[in-house]
Parts: sequence; C-alpha cells; structure tokens
Amino acid sequence: MDEVLNYSMNEMAGADFDCSCGRHHTLDIRHIIMGQGVLKELTKVLEPFSGKKVYMLSDNHTFKAAGDRVLSILEGEDYLVKNVMLDSGDDILIPNEQAVGTMFLNLEPDTAVIVAVGSGTINDMAKYMSARTKIPYVIVCTAPSMDGYVADGAPLILEGKKISFVATLPYGVIGDTDIMKQAPMHMIHAGFGDVLGKLTALADWYLAKEKVGEYCCETCVTLVQRALDKVTGSAEALAKRDDDAVLYLIEALTLTGVAMGLIGVSRPASGAEHMLSHYWEMDFIAKGKFPELHGIKVGIATPVIAEIFELMKDEVPKEAMKLAPSREYVEGLLKTVGAPVYPTDIGIDRELFYNSILEGYKVRNRYSILELALKTEKLEEIAAKITNRIYQ
Ligand SMILES: [Zn+2]
Ligand SMILES: [Zn+2]
Repeated sequence: MDEVLNYSMNEMAGADFDCSCGRHHTLDIRHIIMGQGVLKELTKVLEPFSGKKVYMLSDNHTFKAAGDRVLSILEGEDYLVKNVMLDSGDDILIPNEQAVGTMFLNLEPDTAVIVAVGSGTINDMAKYMSARTKIPYVIVCTAPSMDGYVADGAPLILEGKKISFVATLPYGVIGDTDIMKQAPMHMIHAGFGDVLGKLTALADWYLAKEKVGEYCCETCVTLVQRALDKVTGSAEALAKRDDDAVLYLIEALTLTGVAMGLIGVSRPASGAEHMLSHYWEMDFIAKGKFPELHGIKVGIATPVIAEIFELMKDEVPKEAMKLAPSREYVEGLLKTVGAPVYPTDIGIDRELFYNSILEGYKVRNRYSILELALKTEKLEEIAAKITNRIYQ
C-alpha cells in the first residue's frame, strides 16, 4: 500500500497510489533525476520536444554555474534554442516587473518547452511563465538552496511587495551534484536551514492533528523524516561539500516538495519557523534592506520554535513533543555546517525579534505552537524569556 516508501528519489516522478492515510496521492511530475553527473540526461528528458523551440532561461550567475553547459548540450541536438540570460551584474536577480517582463517579452510563439537554469529566483520566474502559458518547464538546479524546485507557488515582487502566485510543478527536475556542490556556501547553508525547518514543521503538523483534528499523512511524515535523517547525519561532510552530503540535501529539499505535491498541502514543508521567517522578511523588505536568503532565516527560526516547544511541553501532546527537536540539537547542527545561528547574526534587532514571536501567528491562518501559546496565554511570557536570553 505504501510502497512509495521504498521508491528511490528518481522513482518518485509520476507516483500514483492509494495511501494508508485513506487518500489517493498522485505526483504530476515526469522526471526527477538527481545524482552525480546527471546533467547529461537532459536530452532524454527533452526527447518529446525534439526539433522544437526551447526557451532557455538563466541569469548571468547561473549561466556561469551551469547555463553554458546546458546551452552546449541543447545546441548539440536539433532544438531551436532561444537563449535568454538576464543580467543583474554583481547583484542578485530580483524577480520584479522588470525581470518578469523581460522574460515574457523574449517568449517566442510556438515555444515547446522552457529550460530554466538556476535556483530560487529563476525557478520561480520560469514556473510562473509555465503556469500562465501552459508550456512545460524543466529546471536544472544550480544550488541546493531551498525547497521550491518541486512546489507550485512562485513568490515574485509586484509593486515592491512579495506575492506568492499560484504556479505549476515542473515537467522535470535535474539535480546534478557536480554542479550544486560548487554553489556558494551561503546558499548551501540556506538549503540546510530550510531542511532543518522541517523538524519543527512536522512537530507543528502533529500538534495540529492532535489539537484541532487536522488531516495528517503518516506516509508523508515518514518520507520527510527519512530524508531529514540523512541530512542531519551528514552535516559535517556537507561543510566540506561532500558529494553524498550535497545529494542528501537536494533530495531532502526535493522530497518535501514531493510530499507537498502528493497531498496538496504545505504542512510537510512549513510550520511556525516559516512564520517567523516571513515576519522578518516583510520587515526587511519594508525597510528596503536585503532580506537574506529564505533558508538562512528559516534555519535561525528553527531553534527558536524548538525552544517554544520546550517551554510549552506541559501543554503539547506527547506525539507532537516526540517529533520536536531540542533547541540545542538544532543550534548544534547549524554550527556544525557553519551557518548563521542567531537572529543577531543577520541584523534582526530586539524589537523585531520580540514582535515576531508575539505576532508571527498572524502571518498565516494555520495552527502552530505559536497559536497554542497564544490560546494558553503563555505567548508574552515566552517572547520575553527568549528575547532576554538572546539579547542580553
Ligand atoms: Zn497519505
Ligand atoms: Zn522554506
């Protein structure tokens, strides 16, 4: 029944099964190909589009990382390639009206497939164009930096505000560790942080199941947990850009997306730690400051939420408490890979931090440990306690 638990990462594409949770799950992705040297399999993925127009999207950074290799693979076959490289100079590409508009203006009629080469931003832009045009897209991952490769939301910037547009899942995902292990270490830290966030996200999911009877798929929990164990078990190796450790990281990031895709809700990927991260991000954007990479913020928020679970342990059902990691454990893992650990490491001031604990639950209408603390009138005391510890 739950044979999906025995699938390898690359077998997850097109999963279609009756689950022990009582629902039927399907995953609408044709190809997930991860491993060392798998870029060469791009031609196999693109075979149905042979002889047709391919729109290749990258930016000047991701073109250098893998775009040039992808371009030469495409040009070696009989595709009609439209190569669009968005140039953001030394800065990172911001997915605003300018960038999204440029992407769309370069789209030629009768384009058969979009091949995006990049990580967060390029992936979000390509999946948005794919969703609006119904042209399938394939993503060649350049960094294991976030879990959005297999996710149907595309956060883009409209009139200075970040809006999460509903988009589409990719036709294919190619994660070549030879490419990704060369990614900037800060991006690897971000991917690691986003994965650690799943520890508290799963605890929150169980909490919601126990407290408010929310639907929970044990198969998906097990899938994500197994992937998490591999990542936490290889933290030291990840700091050295070890091939297997990078593979485990991109697999875990992909697998949480797979779990989300299977059940159609984002519970396996995000809980209260993502609420804190979004709260900080909105404040940074409002103040015109660089908002930091998503996973860096999630990584910093995770031990904070773990501490709230600890402080709330008398109120939290046993099953959920069993899943919650300890603050020390999460902080230890962040330190092992060399990632930022504390809110002060990325310029979050005392007031912002305190307010984020008090008001983080408002970011999203979803039951979490923050809401339990609010309902039991412990939130203010907890916010003061953690703030005073971090900002002595
Ligand atoms: Zn299920
Ligand atoms: Zn995330």
